[in-house]
Amino acid sequence: MRILVLLLMSAQFMVVPLGVAHAQRSVPIVRDAEIEALVSEYARPILKAAGLSRSGIQIVLVNDPGFNAFVAGRRIFVNTGALMASETPNEIIGVIAHEAGHIAGGHQERLRQQLERAQTMAVVAALLGIGAGIAGAAANADGMAQAGAGLAIGGSEMARRGLLGYQRGEEMTADRSALTYLQATGQSAKGMLTTFERFASSMALAGVNVDPYQISHPMPRERIANLETLARQSPYFDRKDPAELQLRHDLMRAKIAAYTDGPSGAARLFRNDPRGMPALYGDAISTLLYGNPRTAIEKADRLIAAMPGNAYFHELRGDALIKANRAVEAADAYAKAIRLDKSRSGLLQVGYGQALLATGKPDLVRKAAAEMQAGLSREPEFANGYRYLAQAYGQIGDIASAELATAEGHYQAGQYQDAKIFAARAQMKFKRGSPGWLRAQDIIELKTPKRR
Ligand SMILES: [Zn+2]
Repeated sequence: MRILVLLLMSAQFMVVPLGVAHAQRSVPIVRDAEIEALVSEYARPILKAAGLSRSGIQIVLVNDPGFNAFVAGRRIFVNTGALMASETPNEIIGVIAHEAGHIAGGHQERLRQQLERAQTMAVVAALLGIGAGIAGAAANADGMAQAGAGLAIGGSEMARRGLLGYQRGEEMTADRSALTYLQATGQSAKGMLTTFERFASSMALAGVNVDPYQISHPMPRERIANLETLARQSPYFDRKDPAELQLRHDLMRAKIAAYTDGPSGAARLFRNDPRGMPALYGDAISTLLYGNPRTAIEKADRLIAAMPGNAYFHELRGDALIKANRAVEAADAYAKAIRLDKSRSGLLQVGYGQALLATGKPDLVRKAAAEMQAGLSREPEFANGYRYLAQAYGQIGDIASAELATAEGHYQAGQYQDAKIFAARAQMKFKRGSPGWLRAQDIIELKTPKRR
C-alpha cells in the first residue's frame, strides 16, 4: 500500500527506488519539501543548543508506520509513523532532543565514524538488511572503504546491533541532555514524556505491538519518573507550541496519512475536525492520489483561497495539473510554490523542472534542465531527480550530460557499478578537463563529493 507513492511522477513525497537489480525492494526514504522543512525547523534550535549546528547533522525521513527515531552516523532518522503518531510538534521535538543527546554524548562513536561518509541510501539499505551488495561494492572505493567495509562485514547486522546497543547510562545522559536543550530553547519536555510514557505502558503489555523505538531506547518506569520530576521543574513545562506551528504539524500529519493510510487515512486521523484545514488538505491529497485530478485541482484551489501563502498548496496544485496533462499551468504553480518556500528546497525546484520537461516545448525543456541542475546542486542526494535531468538533457540532444546525470543518479543511489559504466560513457563525449569530464572522473574513482 505505501509503495504506491512510487507511481507519482512529482518530487512530492517520493519514495526512492533502489534500482533495477532490487526492483522489488525500495529504500523507503521519503523526500518531501514540506515535511523536511518542518522537521528541520524542529531540529535547528535543538541542534544549536546541543552545540551541533556545525556538525552537518542531517535529518532523514523513513517511510515506515512504526514509531521510531534513531541516530546513525551524523544522520537522525525519523519514521513517518512517529511524525503521524505525535499529536504536537513538542512530542517530536522531544524525541529529536533525546537523539541529539546521544550524538552530543558521543554514543556509538565507532559506528558513527564508519557511517560518516556512506551515501544516505546505502546506510538505510544496510540498516534494513536490503543493501549488502551495495555496501560491498563500495568496499574498494576511495574514502568509502571504511564505510563499505563496516557495512559489508556481517552486513546490516553489525550496524543494527550498534543502533540497538545503547547502554543504560547512555539513555540517562541523553535524557538529561534533552532536558537541557529544551530548557535552553524555552520549550517544554512534556512532549518527550508523553512519548516515553506511551512506550512504557505499551511495554507493559508484554511485547504486543512493540515499536522499534522502545527496543533501541529501553524505557524502564523509574527512568520516566525521574525524567518527569526534572521536567516539571522547568518554567516552560506548560508552554504550548505556537498555533501556527501546530497547524503546520497537523497539515504534515494529514499528508502522511493520505499517502500511507489509504484514501480515507487523513479523514480518519482528523475525524474530530472534518472541516479543518488538515482534513481538507488530506482530502485534496487523497483525491490527487486515488481520485480525479480535475477534482484535486478544485480542492487545491479552495485550499489556496484559504491560505494563499502556503507554498505546498501550490505544489499540490502543480502535481494535480501535471496529472491532468496541463504541464504549462503546472509549471506556473510550481514557480509560485518556489517563490513562497522559505526553506528554498531543491526538491521543489526539481519538481518545477519536471513540469517544464512535461511541456515538451524545446525552450522550456532547456529551462527544465537548468532548473533541475540547480535544484540538485542543493539536494545532491536526491537520486530520483537525476532521472528527469537525464531525460531533459536527452531531449535537447546533450547526450554527454544525460549520461553523466544517469551516472550521478546511480552513484547517489549507491549503485556504484552502474554509476561507473555511465560515467565512463559520458567521459568519452566530454572535452578532457571540462567540468563534466572531471565529475565523471570523480564518479569513476568513486570519490565522495563535497557536502553542502
Ligand atoms: Zn535513547
